[in-house]
Formats: sequence, C-alpha cells, structure tokens
Amino acid sequence: MSIIDSLFAFSHRSGCRLARHFSYPALKRRGGVYLLIVTMALMFLALWIRLAMAPINAGLQYVTFFPAVALAAFIGGFGAGLLATIVGLLFATYIFTPPYYSFSTEVLKTSFWSNMVFFIDGILVSSLLEAMHRYRQQLARELKRTIDVNSDLEENTQHLKSLIDNQFAYVALLDTRGVILEINKAALDQFGYRREDVIHHYFYDLPCWSYDETVQTQLRTAMADALRGKTARYDVAVKKGDDSIMVDFQLSPVRNGEGSIVGLLPMAVDISERIHAEEALKKSRSQLKTFIRQAPITMAMFDRDMNYLETSGPWLHDYGRGYADLRGLNHYDVHPDLPDRWKLVHQQCLAGAMLRNEEDLWVHEDGSEHWSRWAVMPWVDENGTIGGIIVSAENITDRKQNEAHLAEQAQQLQEADQRKDEFLAMLAHELRNPLAPIRNAAQILKRPDLDETRLAWCRNVIDRQVDHLVQLVDDLLDVSRISRGKIELKKEILEVSAIVQRAVETTQPLIEARHHAFMVQLPSEPIYVEGDLVRLCQVVSNLLNNAAKYTDEGGCIDLTVEQAGNDILLRVRDNGRGIAPSALPGLFELFYQVDRTLDRSEGGLGIGLSLVKSLVTMHGGEVWVSSEGRGQGSEFGIRLHRVQPAPAVPIAHAAKPKWAADLLHILVVDDNRDAAQSLSLLLTSEGHEVLLAYDGYSALEVALAERPQIVLLDIGLPGMDGYAVARALRQHPDMNRTQLIALSGYGREVDREQARAAGFNGYLTKPVDFDELHCALTQPSFDH
Ligand code: ADP
Repeated sequence: MSIIDSLFAFSHRSGCRLARHFSYPALKRRGGVYLLIVTMALMFLALWIRLAMAPINAGLQYVTFFPAVALAAFIGGFGAGLLATIVGLLFATYIFTPPYYSFSTEVLKTSFWSNMVFFIDGILVSSLLEAMHRYRQQLARELKRTIDVNSDLEENTQHLKSLIDNQFAYVALLDTRGVILEINKAALDQFGYRREDVIHHYFYDLPCWSYDETVQTQLRTAMADALRGKTARYDVAVKKGDDSIMVDFQLSPVRNGEGSIVGLLPMAVDISERIHAEEALKKSRSQLKTFIRQAPITMAMFDRDMNYLETSGPWLHDYGRGYADLRGLNHYDVHPDLPDRWKLVHQQCLAGAMLRNEEDLWVHEDGSEHWSRWAVMPWVDENGTIGGIIVSAENITDRKQNEAHLAEQAQQLQEADQRKDEFLAMLAHELRNPLAPIRNAAQILKRPDLDETRLAWCRNVIDRQVDHLVQLVDDLLDVSRISRGKIELKKEILEVSAIVQRAVETTQPLIEARHHAFMVQLPSEPIYVEGDLVRLCQVVSNLLNNAAKYTDEGGCIDLTVEQAGNDILLRVRDNGRGIAPSALPGLFELFYQVDRTLDRSEGGLGIGLSLVKSLVTMHGGEVWVSSEGRGQGSEFGIRLHRVQPAPAVPIAHAAKPKWAADLLHILVVDDNRDAAQSLSLLLTSEGHEVLLAYDGYSALEVALAERPQIVLLDIGLPGMDGYAVARALRQHPDMNRTQLIALSGYGREVDREQARAAGFNGYLTKPVDFDELHCALTQPSFDH
C-alpha cells in the first residue's frame, strides 16, 4: 500500500469518525449545549484563522465566518447556523469593524449593508442546510423503510418457499403456457425429479403425466379450463417410477392485482393410501353387510327408539312383513300386534339387561301361532353407552308343530300297537274258531260206522270252515298288499247292478242263515262305474256281511243304489246294533273293532272296513258311516264316479266249473307232503291218475320219465324252485304238450307274470279252490 493510499485511508477513517461524532443527527441527538459548544468552537476557530490570515484592519471581516456559519449550519442545522451567524456578526462588528474592539453605532452606518448581507446569507445558508438535512433525513428514513420492506419481503419469500417446500401436497407454479416456473420439494422428492430438470419445462411433459395419453389429454383440458378461470379438480393415477399413485389433483388460475390470469397453480395430494383404506373399508363393510344379510341367523339391530338399523336375511324373511328393507322403520310400526311383554323385554334390555327365552308363543292377530326362541341384548357404542338392542330369534314353529305331530303320531302308534296286539289275540282266536269244527269233523271221519248223513255233515263243516279260513287269509293278504301299495286294479266299465248282484250272491247264504229281511233297490236305468269288478264286489259284500253280522237275527237290511249327479251312491242300511258316536271316527281304521271281546260270536279281524275304505279310495270314491247310536242301526255308504257305458259292457262271470271229460295223467309236486297227498287223493277220487314228487329234482325226473299230461307244480320248493323246474321242463322237446299249472301262496299280478314267463299254462293260489282247479285242468289260463 502506498503512503498516499495510507493517508487516504487514514483521512477517510478520520472523516468517518468525525462525521460520526459531528454529524447532524449525532449533534441533534446530543442536544443544545453540545451544539452550542461545537458552534462556538467553530466560530472561534474561524476567528483564529481570520486573525492568522490578515491583520484586523485588512477588511475581509466575514471571510472565515461564512464557511464557519455554513459548517455550523451543516452540522447543527438552522439553530446552529443562526447562532454562528449572530456570533460571526458580533465578532466581525466588534473586532474587524472600526472602531476595532468596540461596538459602536458607527457600525450601522459603515457596515450596515455588509452585516445585513452576512446575516441574510447566514440565515439563508442555515435554512438551506436545515432543509437539506431534513430532506436527507427523510431520504434516509425512506431508504431504511425500503430496506426494511425488502428484507421483510425476502424473509417472507423464504418463509413461503419453505412453507410450500414442506407441504405434503405437490405444488408448482406455471406460466400461462404451462411452463413450470416453480415446483416444491415434496413434488420433486415424490416423483424423483431434479429441480433443474423440470424448471422451464412444460408441465404436461412431466413423465408422471405423459405415460398415458388419456391422462395427458385430461390434464390439457383442465389447463385450458383454468386459463378460462375455472378451477379443475379430479382424482387421477399418475406415474411414479414403475408404479402409479392416485392423487387428488387441482388446477387453479393465478391472477395478478388486476384480476388477470398470469399463471396456473397445479396442486396434488397423494390419496393412494386413503383410497386403499377406503377400498379396504368398503370391502370390510360389504363383507360385514353380507355376513349380516346372509348369516343363517334371524337377527336385527335396533337403536334406542326401536328403529331398525340392520336385519339379517332370515329376519327379513320371517318378520319382514313383506318389506324389502326394514332399515329406518320402527319395529312397533311394522309389528303393531307385538305382545306388550316383548316391549317390556326391549325396555329392560335398553336398560342393560340380557334376556332370553327358549320357547315363546306369539299369537298373531289372525290367530296364527308363531313359536320362537329368542335372545335380546343391548349393544354399546364407542363411548360405552347403550345405543340400542340386538334381537336374535329362531322360528321354532315348525319344530313345535313337528313335536306336536310326533306326539300325536306316537299316540297313534301306541294305539295302533295296542290294536295290533289285540288283533293278534283276535287272529289266534279267529283261526282257532274254524279249526275246532275241522278237527271235530276229522275225528268223526275216523269212525268206521259213518252213515251218509254224517259224512255229508263232516264235508260241509270242513268246507265251510276252510272257506272261512281262506277268507281270513285273503283279507289279511289284501291289507298287506294295500298298505304296501302292491294291489292292482283291473279296471273296466261295469254296470253297478252287476256288482251288486255278485256281492249279494256271496252274502246271501249268511243273510238267509240269519233270517234277515233283505231288500235291494236299484235305479230303473242301468248306471256304470269304472272299476275292478272283484274289488268292488268285495267292498259291497263286506258291507252286506257286516250288516248281516251286526244285526240280530230277523233284522232288516236295505241296499240302495241311486244316481246323484255324476256320482253313484250305494248305501247299506240295517236296523242292527248300531254304533256309538264316539266309535264312528275310527271305524275305518285297520284292526278297529267296537267290541273287542274275544267271545264275540260274529268273528272278524277288524280289517273289513279298512279294506272297504282303501279299495273305494283307490277307485277315486269315498266312504262314510252314520248311526244314531247303539241299538239304532247304522248306514254305510260309498260314493263312486259315474261313467258313460262302454259300447259293449263285459260282465265277467265266474266260469262254471266244467269237469274234465277225460281222465288225466297228473303229476303233483309239493314239498308239503300233506298238501301234495291230499290233493293227490282228491284227484284220484275224481278218477285221474296221479304221480307225486316232493322236490324240484325228483319232479323233473318223474316228469321226464312218466310224461304226465298235467303238472301241478308248487313254486316254493327247496333247492330248485317251481320256476326253475318249469323252465327245465319247457326246454325238453317231449314236454311241449304238458300243461304246467303253478301252485302258489302269492296271488300278485307280478307273480302270475313271472309264472307265465317261466312257461306255466295256469296259476292257482293256495289253498286251491276245487272249482278253480277243475277249470285249470280243462283250459289253460295263459296263452303261449
Ligand atoms: P270286523 O267285522 O272283522 O270286526 P270290520 O272292519 O268289518 O271288522 O268292522 C269293524 C267294526 O265295525 C266291527 O267290529 C263292528 O264293531 C263295527 N261294525 C261294522 N259294521 C257294522 C254294522 N253294520 N253295524 C254295527 N257295527 C258295525
């Protein structure tokens, strides 16, 4: 550094220091005394310099005081300038104006104008400098204010920037063309951009938008809208690396003070998590709703006022009263007939109780019964207060009805069981009844001295009792077949009088034996039904039989048939013992008997009327009974549908037995030796030649050896059954002309069909009726 530089620096420093100490503001601050001292010092300095410059009388009395006044005014303002002017005037007048060192009025004459000029100059300079100071001060204040404002602005800008940078929202500032002017840190961090890479680039070119044309087009539209003053807002998926995130995006215009649009402000908030949370919430809500709606539980949730909040599907089904949705409705409005005790339960549970009932009956207004099993409990909200109640209920009406039904069935079963026991006892009794006379007859037949009268009596007794036994067994088989649905009706168009005639033929002997007056009344014109002749005859003869049995000897029995519209009514009326009203309802039940004493003379197993009902029902008809009571007689009726006559009405009659003209060569096969031998005896007594076999193999042997004309073959043989024997015989050419007749305990159509298929020509059910046997011997029943 040169000496000049050092001096300059020194003077600058000194000047600065002086300026600091003697500057206008500093002196102003320090006050009047200090100013007075400085001013006086300046004036004495000026005086000293003047005295040093020239002698007193050299004139120039103001030469140094001018600058001193100016300096004083410069330093101290108007006051100091004025003081300096006055002091300078005094010094000039006293020292440098003759007479020297005195104040004389001479001065007014000699130096008045020069003094006046000095004074006015002093005043002017002081005023100017004062004004200059004031102006400078004002300038300084304004400068300071400007500086302050600028620094505030700078500070605010920094705050704003850090505020925007620290926002979780992604914010940018665009010009009206969409060029990015500013972008916040959150956006840069989120999308991994560098500031310098995005500033001054088009916003819609950012990779987060440009990955998808639709997204970009949507953005450009939003920008165009924002430039027209509209704020756009929408949710959009933007690209972030390889992933994408959902943002709530808003684009608004930026306006200047005049309201003109000068830029755009895009702002986005990441809502991916919110959306995931919302989706999870939505899913869980929907699952909860599905659970509630589809849970196989009858359940409803109510608020404190018993308004429905939620219901399960079964609740809606059971108690919905036709509403598709009960939410918002009041329980008591939906069910105005709700029992008061249940309302009380609701109140108790709203007060905190948990109640349940395993079986509760609610009788609806229409009288229908509703059994339920329920539980009611309060539900508690997040504040721990009871918000309402939850009711779960199970409709147990079906169960209760089933229980009642089961109890009824158990009772019926018990009764049926009892009836069965009684029936078995009765059956044993009924079977013994015919056996006793048969045994007696057998004993009589053993006697050597039998005359023709006794022989005839024995034959009749055995014949009648066997018929009775066969009837019993047939009825039992019928009951069994009907109960198993195995009975088949051979339906045809029948004239009702034919049915009646045949039934009467069957019952006539009993009616006559009991000396009843019997009257039959038929319509004048023939009427027809469609049905099975044998079964309908069975029905009518059953009713006639009962009338004959349960009417004391010499009674009256009427059978009337009449037409009623499209129906036919058949009534059997008697004046017999009648039926008590209490017995009427069960009369058509199986094994039902009004008098269950074993010593009843009428016999029967209590199955006749049950058969009547079943058979009539199978024909599409109905039965009924009426009686005024015990001793008042009774009336049994059946109703059948009337049909139009068929062109030719075949009325089947039992083929009249026809004895064979020729004597036959017959093989009887039965493992029951008594049965085989008795049948053999019977046939031999008719003059036929009879061979015997007791099993299938010997039957085959004998048949092939002897070539009988007819083989009466039992089906149920041990080892090789009747079907197998028949098939074997049919395979032998020499046995082609042999008639094979089956003997079986079963009489079902299916059994007959099986026999026909095995090669039989005829089929007889055991015990064999002699008339049927004779028919079978003369003409085959199956065509082959
Ligand atoms: P069963 O005659 O073998 O006992 P039914 O089924 O034919 O069986 O009859 C059932 C019961 O109905 C009889 O036991 C009898 O008590 C009563 N009953 C049937 N018909 C008459 C009738 N005409 N008059 C009085 N009671 C009758």
